[in-house]
Amino acid sequence: MAEKLIDVKDVALKNNCPECFSKDGLRLIFKQKIRETKFYKSITSEISHEMTCKTCNSIIYPEQWTDDIDLVFEYQKKAFTPKKASTYLKKPYWIVIATFVILVALILFLVFFLNLQLPFDSLR
Ligand SMILES: [Zn+2]
Repeated sequence: MAEKLIDVKDVALKNNCPECFSKDGLRLIFKQKIRETKFYKSITSEISHEMTCKTCNSIIYPEQWTDDIDLVFEYQKKAFTPKKASTYLKKPYWIVIATFVILVALILFLVFFLNLQLPFDSLR
């Protein structure tokens, strides 16, 4: 089972970067976890976030955040609407289901067919 995080929203912040003090490099990225198997792909409601600076190419961890960044983050977190959790069933899933249905139909047919045959056999 593969799990990956996809970027859902990318916000440019006007705060100073704690690393390089640039005013236009900070970006807050919201990510959402996607779970993928052979049979289905689903968007989970699990959210994570990451702050990076495009100017100095560093990841800004929450311990480095200033009070201003904290405030902006809280605001952005409230404004963020995650993608609705959903599951998409892939083709192999439907093939398995279809095969199962056909097998059951075949078994039912055989049972029915054999039941019809038996009386004639016993008459011989
Ligand atoms: Zn920076």
